[in-house]
Amino acid sequence: MNEPVITIADALWIYLATFVVLFGEIITGQLKDCTKRDFGLTLLCFLSNSAITRPLFGFGAGLLAAWVLPAYAGAGSALPLWAAFLVAFVASEFVFYWVHRWSHEGQKKGHRLNWLWKVHRTHHSATEINVTVVQRQNIFWALFTPHIWLTALFVYLGMEAGVALTLIVMYVWNTLTHMHWRMDDKLINTRVGRAIMHVVITPSMHHAHHGYGKNGKMYKNFGLCLAVFDWAFGTLYLPEGKPSRYGVPGEQPHWAEEAFYPLNHLMPKKKAAAAPAEATAP
Ligand SMILES: [Zn+2]
Ligand SMILES: [Zn+2]
Repeated sequence: MNEPVITIADALWIYLATFVVLFGEIITGQLKDCTKRDFGLTLLCFLSNSAITRPLFGFGAGLLAAWVLPAYAGAGSALPLWAAFLVAFVASEFVFYWVHRWSHEGQKKGHRLNWLWKVHRTHHSATEINVTVVQRQNIFWALFTPHIWLTALFVYLGMEAGVALTLIVMYVWNTLTHMHWRMDDKLINTRVGRAIMHVVITPSMHHAHHGYGKNGKMYKNFGLCLAVFDWAFGTLYLPEGKPSRYGVPGEQPHWAEEAFYPLNHLMPKKKAAAAPAEATAP
């Protein structure tokens, strides 16, 4: 088998883009409204995902692929880089679109996917958008989004260079759509700009997905890079400006629920719930 022209290990350097953008956001004062809770929660999410679930789920998915598809190890290694990239990229976008959309279905009261919304809600509870929000994910989100297990599957199939390129493109795009600045604000005013917004998710489109009130639409724009699936399946939204609010309406859950749901239910319950009953007891 030929050595891949670019490996997953090479792709990891793209994480540095986060620090470059973060530095820009700090020195221009864009993070002044973020709280210590925001930074603490994001750091906890980043560490627990990076150290535990992402490697664990990736390793598990690789083992599963070898067990279920023993005859297909390296089966895609003859594909040229552009073809391997297209397969990995479009498959990841398509699966992500549906998982992301179903997680928002769970927002509806009493919906059977309410647990999936609780896993995704952590990413949405940020009331300020900046590049750190990319890492603000519940510890189990990596199990449902395709980026970890599809990466493992495609590497097993011998398409490491294609999937490494996919990870780089997705991370760069995620960084652009979560940074504080919505650089595409004027795009909506031109025909070409509106056409582009039917193909790719721009920063203002993803900001709208994090928002509510005027120009906010949490039930639209589920794609990560591509808007074509939103367009095809009726969830495309082109905002005309900044959302009036970011975050999720209502009370914020406990930080442990945000980071670790449903494991927080294993933690000992506070006695506070029993207090009113004791107070009214004769
Ligand atoms: Zn979402
Ligand atoms: Zn987001």
